[in-house]
Amino acid sequence: MLSIEGNIVHIDGVRRERVEIDSETGLIIKVGPETGVADLILKEELVFPGFVDLHVHAREDTSHTQDYKEDFKTAGEAAVNGGVVAFLEMPNNPVPPVDDASYQAKSELTHTSKIEIVLYAGIGPNTFPFSKNVPYKLYMGPSVGDLFFTSLQDVETVLEKYKGCFVSFHCEDPKILDDNAGAPTHEARRPKEAEISALDFALTMIEKYNLSGKICHASTKEAMEKIRSAKSQGLKVVAEVSPHHLFYSTESLTEANRNFMQMNPPLRGKEDKDALISALKDGVIDFIATDHAPHSIEEKIKGTSGTPQLDTYGSVATWLMKEHNFSPTDILRVCSQNSGKFFSQYSTFKYGEVKVGFVGSLTVLDMKKENKITKENLKTKCGWSPFEGVVFPGSVTTTIIKGYILKNENT
Ligand SMILES: [Zn+2]
Repeated sequence: MLSIEGNIVHIDGVRRERVEIDSETGLIIKVGPETGVADLILKEELVFPGFVDLHVHAREDTSHTQDYKEDFKTAGEAAVNGGVVAFLEMPNNPVPPVDDASYQAKSELTHTSKIEIVLYAGIGPNTFPFSKNVPYKLYMGPSVGDLFFTSLQDVETVLEKYKGCFVSFHCEDPKILDDNAGAPTHEARRPKEAEISALDFALTMIEKYNLSGKICHASTKEAMEKIRSAKSQGLKVVAEVSPHHLFYSTESLTEANRNFMQMNPPLRGKEDKDALISALKDGVIDFIATDHAPHSIEEKIKGTSGTPQLDTYGSVATWLMKEHNFSPTDILRVCSQNSGKFFSQYSTFKYGEVKVGFVGSLTVLDMKKENKITKENLKTKCGWSPFEGVVFPGSVTTTIIKGYILKNENT
């Protein structure tokens, strides 16, 4: 049994309480008044239901050709370091999980991780829905990997088969990307219009085929408005934003950092970034999802898209609280509760709240302990971060996984 006393963050506010976790079942067995005696007694720190990230590329697959970038074990370590207690993992691998057998084979590899990982299944030009309930991911246009379409007509032909399924969409219109392929910069080659057009298409597909849709890493002001209006019309759609689009804009780009800040969709203007932060705060956006995409430094210099983000998940949450007035409850909603509920559909555990019967995985933030990101304090195998040099206002001091303390930096 593990007992913790401290400021527990709930949906209706923060209360000093005692939490008991059965380390055998991994479940919370008691939440009640503090006693002054516990394995871990916290002072001003905030104790959240563990953060859950719905968008991670851990790179390992049955081909093992990309294990040099990251694998399930190191991605799990980076997650724990950043306060993430479970994640959903993306299918754009050399051997993509696109049917029951390939999904099962890849799932078995995740057991080297100390945290729970559930896989997305890929939707490609020739795929079919699985026999069991899994989350699906669809790349409309080319990004990293071969799992993509060359036209939106082809996308619709395939989606028809997935009626009623849960589909996550990477929204960039392949035609618009193609039309801009000769533009001088990464952000000009992947313009806002590509996201806006693909988002319109995704929303139409969600309605037409009765899908439950998730819009991945939405990055534009226009997307915020379209998602807001789709939700108000009752469409079954939820949406992610990614830390890099909240923290950086095209104004942050320099000749020296530009390759390391390259991702799909790219960084946008300051007004987009501001719109994302407000939409996240007012509930139009449901999740902070990292799009953790580890590549080696050599690959980044050559121009591969994607950035590693798991190590810094909790740090970004402290920045939103300090710089953008997010309350602990706002953070709980976008980092724990909404994503926890989503993840729980595919797990035997319930994530997202500190309550009896829920998983005993917790994330502790210390808002008084500044945290400067350096290569030395990262656990991702690729060994770098787009946040290197940034001093965040708080730290992840403790991460508890199913009743075991896997990170503890309390002083
Ligand atoms: Zn991604």
